[in-house]
Amino acid sequence: MNLFPDHETQEATISVNSLNHYYQQGSRKQVLFDINLEIHAGEIVLMTGPSGSGKTTLLTLIGSLRSVQAGSLKVLGCELLNATQAQMTLARRNIGYIFQAHNLLSFLTVYQNIELALELHDVTAEVADTRIKQLLTAVGLERFSHSYPRELSGGQKQRVAIARALAGEPKLILADEPTAALDKQSGRDIVAILQQLAKEQNCTILLVTHDHRILDIADRIIDMEDGRLSQEVPPLQPRPGNLSPGIEQ
Ligand code: ADP
Ligand code: MG
Repeated sequence: MNLFPDHETQEATISVNSLNHYYQQGSRKQVLFDINLEIHAGEIVLMTGPSGSGKTTLLTLIGSLRSVQAGSLKVLGCELLNATQAQMTLARRNIGYIFQAHNLLSFLTVYQNIELALELHDVTAEVADTRIKQLLTAVGLERFSHSYPRELSGGQKQRVAIARALAGEPKLILADEPTAALDKQSGRDIVAILQQLAKEQNCTILLVTHDHRILDIADRIIDMEDGRLSQEVPPLQPRPGNLSPGIEQ
């Protein structure tokens, strides 16, 4: 019997094989060691691990924001090893990014920040307007359309960042500690919105977090330590006191 029909007929959204990565800082320093990872369409995968273990490096490689040096890394069917700048740019079009700091442009309104993300995509002003309003409603910020980032709370800014990341209907969302700067309730709200919108759009999510309060949204949790991806552990059903030692509070 075929237990995983989708996995066998469908190419993985992310496929990493024997990936190594080095930084040149005086001497050459290896930061990722023989990374192997497959993530399939629609999966929500959380990556945990101590600070400095290589999580952001892996996320930026998968996000086509940094060149792959050794090994193989396929994202949405595109091999990023030896990819040209043009191919890397193309790969980024199908990816939504959410960072720890929201990275909104302070001189643009909420509406304009999301609009800017849509300019990469070939949509009419009318379609863009409908889409922006839908997204603002989905993240509960319809009343803040004309506000500037400085007028919003941390949680609200991060909700704009989510709307912006989802604007181009990406197939993959990469989030690097999106709840780190938020209080407990805002953090949970953010991941709940992200989870719901991703399911609606059949979007795959890879989210780096130190935040043990959100681990239960994961389909799968992976752990990075000293540049090595550890055994994938099954989703955490409430297991109080049994978190990875690498997780920071
Ligand atoms: P994490 O996101 O898990 O905190 P990073 O991927 O940011 O880890 O960093 C992994 C290691 O690589 C750390 O030792 C860090 O100091 C180093 N590092 C990160 N970025 C650079 C860089 N641009 N140049 C040199 N070393 C870096
Ligand atoms: Mg990091």
